[in-house]
Amino acid sequence: MSTSFVLKGDLLQSISPGELSVIEDGYLVCVEGLSAGAFSELPERFAGLELRDYTGALIIPGLVDLHTHAPQYSYRGTGMDLELLDWLQNYTYPEEARYRDLNYAKPAYEAFVARLVAGATTRVAVFSTVHVPATLLLMDLLEQSGLASFVGKVNMDRNAPDTLREPSAAAALQSTAEWLEQTAARGYRRTRPILTPRFIPACSDELMRGLGAMQQESSSFVSDTQESSPSSPSAAPPSAPPSVPASVPVQSHLSENLREIEWVRELRPQAASYAAAYCDDGLLGGPSCPTIMAHCVYLEPEEAALLKARGVWIAHCAESNTNLASGIAPVRSYLTDGLRVGLGTDVAGGSGLSVFRAMMHSIQASKLRWRFVDERLAPLTAAEAFYLATRGGGSFWGKVGGFEEGFEFDAVVLNERAPQSAAPLNECAPQSAAPLAERAPHAARPLSPAEHSPHAARPLSPAERLERLIYADGDACVVEKYVAGGRVCAT
Ligand SMILES: [Zn+2]
Repeated sequence: MSTSFVLKGDLLQSISPGELSVIEDGYLVCVEGLSAGAFSELPERFAGLELRDYTGALIIPGLVDLHTHAPQYSYRGTGMDLELLDWLQNYTYPEEARYRDLNYAKPAYEAFVARLVAGATTRVAVFSTVHVPATLLLMDLLEQSGLASFVGKVNMDRNAPDTLREPSAAAALQSTAEWLEQTAARGYRRTRPILTPRFIPACSDELMRGLGAMQQESSSFVSDTQESSPSSPSAAPPSAPPSVPASVPVQSHLSENLREIEWVRELRPQAASYAAAYCDDGLLGGPSCPTIMAHCVYLEPEEAALLKARGVWIAHCAESNTNLASGIAPVRSYLTDGLRVGLGTDVAGGSGLSVFRAMMHSIQASKLRWRFVDERLAPLTAAEAFYLATRGGGSFWGKVGGFEEGFEFDAVVLNERAPQSAAPLNECAPQSAAPLAERAPHAARPLSPAEHSPHAARPLSPAERLERLIYADGDACVVEKYVAGGRVCAT
């Protein structure tokens, strides 16, 4: 399929945390995988491109899941009466140990990827397990799906059962180096490796220092013409595959739970803080070490300042923080202070992979925090949550999360009448749109006509439609999506 085409529909994107841009009945142009812009009238120079007509549908940038765990999808929604450390020992580690067996991993990872494909997520940063073969299998599946991803083989060499724990720091570093070599040999276009120390309690000082050295070594191969950070604009010509930076980024967990934080103090007494411990090991941001830290619920002011100075992305995982009774991160202050923030579903602390749901949970948690903890920190709005879910997380990949010219063309087409939705969201929506099935030959699923809404009400604005997609889980309304101009399809 050509990666140059035009989408027609109601275009909605986030410009800044509080600002939405809307073009009703507009045109979104893709040229060789990159956006050429969003227009109310189609410029003459694009008139020859194929027009894919989704009139009446809402078209938004793809949603980004900045933190989740693929092997935990299988037991989501269980063990939720425990707090983090007990939950890890009793649920997570025994389950992750099973991924040593590819016969177990294959159907589990196929289910995980199929669910991602079905929803509005276009990019994901994901943990696998310590196992190299299963991690490569997950990467193969994600690559075949067309989604863009960072995938991390987990490192952990202490405080975990022998069935899962890597036997030594040296063995962990050796298998990580081999995994990186095999990843490079597979020539993935949209699937990239990311170094993944689970968190400090599970990683010895020797392992952490070794991973820091490995990260530094990876960035030393970046030439002047290559990009050193996923957040830098792509220097590749439009027809080339998405750029793959030579430096390998980092993802981990930081400051999630009070007992965990106390434990890190005991394990790393020399470090000035939990965040500083990562920084001391060379695993916390900077121009050649793009880093995602999940949670950051209890950052001290010095830690927040360090994350800002190092340009670290915070993956805010509100549902997980609620389910494991961890706390509520002060996202409002992070936004106000100019830190980088995106959203994570954090399965299986979170119960599912919908980023629409992650937006809703973020807003709800912020409302409770405002009401019960600190009335100076205003709750998140729907527009702000949408910003975090698109540009906030998308910036980890570079120019991702918007429709401006030069951005990678990630787009999701949402039909609130989609019959696959258990409760179609159009029940109170206008009836002006004709059946999309007749106009959407590229739809991932054929749509049956849904012309007669039983409860027609006043027309909703695109912003109101977005708000309802957030609160009523818009994943069920996805009829088509694109990543860097390529259509995402089931594996
Ligand atoms: Zn996590």
